[in-house]
Amino acid sequence: MQAPTYLDYNAGAPLKPAARAAMVEALAIAGNPSSVHAFGRAARRIIEAARGDVARLLNAPPSAVIFTSGATEANNAALNAAAPGRVLVSAIEHPSILAAVPQAQRLPVLPCGVVDLAALEDALAGPEPAELVAVMAVNNETGVIQPIEAVAALARRFGARLHVDAVQAAGRIAIDMQCLGVASMSLSAHKLGGPQGVGALVILDGTRFRPLIKGGGQERSRRAGTENVAAIAGFAAAAREATGLEEPALLAPLRDHLESLVTALVPETVVIAAASPRVANTACLSLPGVRAETLVIALDLEGYAVSAGAACSSGKVKVSDVLQAMAVEPEVAAGTVRVSLGWATDGAAVEGFANAWARVAERLLARGSRARMVRA
Ligand code: PMP
Repeated sequence: MQAPTYLDYNAGAPLKPAARAAMVEALAIAGNPSSVHAFGRAARRIIEAARGDVARLLNAPPSAVIFTSGATEANNAALNAAAPGRVLVSAIEHPSILAAVPQAQRLPVLPCGVVDLAALEDALAGPEPAELVAVMAVNNETGVIQPIEAVAALARRFGARLHVDAVQAAGRIAIDMQCLGVASMSLSAHKLGGPQGVGALVILDGTRFRPLIKGGGQERSRRAGTENVAAIAGFAAAAREATGLEEPALLAPLRDHLESLVTALVPETVVIAAASPRVANTACLSLPGVRAETLVIALDLEGYAVSAGAACSSGKVKVSDVLQAMAVEPEVAAGTVRVSLGWATDGAAVEGFANAWARVAERLLARGSRARMVRA
């Protein structure tokens, strides 16, 4: 049997060989990076070099980088600073934003998946000033790119601070944090081909901040606890490979080929946000009338790993809040899966997936229409 094909990079990319090599090398170092002796200093050098590599991804100063256990922690830490002020968040944010500030006012998105800038302006102009705005750079389910430059300009005009979850944007589109005037951004290593369990909050000096994790003085007292040196080394290696943005240039034609094949083979296929500005690696596909979880299982049996909605914590099955916020018809939303490509995806994977999609659709659509006939 052929090895299964991984097409779920937005949930987590496979570890890149360079990241693995950097981690293995770092694991050989004995010292605690806070120790002053030679061993400690060797570990410290890895962390400080990594800080530069991660900062370069966003054109941020290295001093802005706080290493965390991932983007969930980074998002929570960024929003922790704002409580109890008024917070505005887009309705399509990751749960690590939405759950961190349940009291926040949710900003609607347009049917194309882009945050409604007029609604943001109205909310900012409200009688009570907003302290913080959180809008992600790229949505994890649809791949739709958000107008961060315009959001930043509005936030600046009304004196609100902007936090951007850049997890799905890093390495996929150019981001210049300083040029944009964004106060803080979050990153996750495993979306870049680095290891799981490490990420960063990148927060410009002078931004109000309250540490979530207190204790030792690590990360300039902004995040206590001995740093995960090997994971940080792997994160840096993945960041170095992502900085040049070579990958999106290779993935764009593959994703376009995938979408044109599936729509040609199965005309019932709906491509969500097809006309919106999107990152190159994400295809959000629906087979209306079929349930997404059935599609995911059928495709898995065919040897293709994809997600239903935001399957960050796998197993949970409910209609996606993101698609709901975009006012996607319920029947279309219920049949939507996310196919996300990355550094190890090739043409054969895309063509194999399209053929599997066609076989699965033929079976499931035929079954659906039989069921409809029986009910009628
Ligand atoms: N934000 C977005 C947009 C994500 O896609 C994810 C990962 N699913 C996260 C935050 C959380 O990242 P982590 O897995 O590093 O906690």
